[in-house]
Amino acid sequence: MSDIQPKCRCEFCGAWTVNVGWKICDRCREIEEGSPAIGDMLRALSEMREKYLDLVWYARSSPRDRDAARRRAAVKTVYPQEVAELSNPVSGDFHYGFHSGVLAGLRFVAAAMTEGVEAAKAKFADLNT
Ligand SMILES: [Zn+2]
Repeated sequence: MSDIQPKCRCEFCGAWTVNVGWKICDRCREIEEGSPAIGDMLRALSEMREKYLDLVWYARSSPRDRDAARRRAAVKTVYPQEVAELSNPVSGDFHYGFHSGVLAGLRFVAAAMTEGVEAAKAKFADLNT
């Protein structure tokens, strides 16, 4: 039997998890089964986290990076107003800071709900892209 297990990211909390056919990790599945309303909130948190991850990544990526061109174009298509704001020479830094703060806060909440408050504090502020 192989030691290599397929892994994927939990769609709710973003943690790496062994893929057993679920798109979410066991902990998030338990939370969702225990409270569908909290499951809905985790889903919304995940969507917002993806948005702000894309925007922070976009701001850090280089327009000269050919490997990033496709993803940059996709982010620009999905979030045209936010990308225009990032490109503003006067207020771009403010928007980048705002997006980074939102991403860190959303990651903190998701980690606190799924891994506990202490784990969330230890990871804060996770701004890896
Ligand atoms: Zn999870």
